[in-house]
Amino acid sequence: MPLEENIRMVRERIARAAREAGRDPGEITLEAATKVQTSDTIRAAIAAGITVCGENRVQELTAHLDDCAYDGAQIHFIGHLQTNKVRFVAGRVDLIESVDSLRLLEAVDRQAARLGLVQDILLEVNIAREASKGGCLPEDLLELARRAGALAHVRVRGVMSIPPAAAGPGGNRGYFARTRQLFVDIRKEMGDNNPDINCLSMGMSGDYEDAVREGATLVRVGAALFGPRPPVQP
Ligand SMILES: *Cc1c(COP(=O)(O)O)cnc(C)c1O
Repeated sequence: MPLEENIRMVRERIARAAREAGRDPGEITLEAATKVQTSDTIRAAIAAGITVCGENRVQELTAHLDDCAYDGAQIHFIGHLQTNKVRFVAGRVDLIESVDSLRLLEAVDRQAARLGLVQDILLEVNIAREASKGGCLPEDLLELARRAGALAHVRVRGVMSIPPAAAGPGGNRGYFARTRQLFVDIRKEMGDNNPDINCLSMGMSGDYEDAVREGATLVRVGAALFGPRPPVQP
């Protein structure tokens, strides 16, 4: 089955890139970016060993949750999240990777408080300062982390970034290195050796090996596992 083969191949390439960089391949988790996939495909991916699914639209997340499609895997939310949709996401996923503003941070904290839980989050940084992308600006990330540290119902686990579509091998290494530096800064800011802050989410189908070389602990891969997607609907 191609899906199983693709998963094996991507894992092998992650492991090779890790070893070349002197890293333990066991430090890196492969997250399947499941947008536009059916519940059956998600189940097949989990049966083939996928342990984390990343969803980026609230509507798809809700439909797959209703189907119990993610059973056996963790669920991460990786898409742009509007504050008025927070109630459909907070408390229903293991990690929200895309918290990028104080307004959203506070909305997640409020909803988690209502539910009586602590929501794990990553702070998303717009590392290439692209107008079209979510994420806070790099210079605003530390302040956002400080604000998060003062809230009782969110727990910062690390940083996520989505650099531009890779311009060939090596094209995004600088962005990945800068994201890693921000991750290190936040860990220092929020208490040295804070074991909660251990997640650096970066790298997609076109550039996950470079992300691993630059320290990613979580790579979000869609097309390289599931095949190319149809063009995105606005
Ligand atoms: C779709 C998506 C990915 C995976 O993209 P591919 O190029 O298909 O690997 C990763 N991260 C986010 C936030 C996505 O929306």
